[in-house]
Amino acid sequence: MVNNGKDIRSIINNPEARQFLKELLGDEGLDVIQVMSGSGIVDEEIAERTGLKLNLVRKILYKLYDHRLASYIRTKDPEIGWYIYTWSLDLSRVFEIIQARKRKILEELNKRLEFEQNHVFFCCKMDDAKVPFDIASKNDFKCPQCGCIMDYMDNQQSIMSLQHEIGRLEREIQHVRQHVPHV
Ligand SMILES: [Zn+2]
Repeated sequence: MVNNGKDIRSIINNPEARQFLKELLGDEGLDVIQVMSGSGIVDEEIAERTGLKLNLVRKILYKLYDHRLASYIRTKDPEIGWYIYTWSLDLSRVFEIIQARKRKILEELNKRLEFEQNHVFFCCKMDDAKVPFDIASKNDFKCPQCGCIMDYMDNQQSIMSLQHEIGRLEREIQHVRQHVPHV
């Protein structure tokens, strides 16, 4: 569990984790997280301390919950009979989620690379449509979009940029594995 203020601060000060949380939750989400630094806070108190509307705070909390980055305990207020939600933050999975996303992107890039390497492509000069040989030949080498005759396309550049991107991502994944605990 990464639950104390110091660990949470070190996670949200990590540029990659911060970027991920910002994309997931927006700027307001970062405000919510700052206030939650510590464990166990009622949603209404988060709204008070951030100045955000309670509905927005709850939306952010459930997004965190969806990604198993926060959990809540529901208790009944004996006096007013309403339920009270006390939320705790656990950002320890942030790097795990980031890594999983990268691995997924890497997988897709590898598939694309394989496809590029195993196919010959034709392209249209008018609209940049690009199709593999099989499809081009079925269409009598006419562009599926505009009907112009398609030309053979050297895809070496695409292959090289995919290889470059794959290498970069592999190094990043390796780097995190070495430098961030619990991944
Ligand atoms: Zn075309």
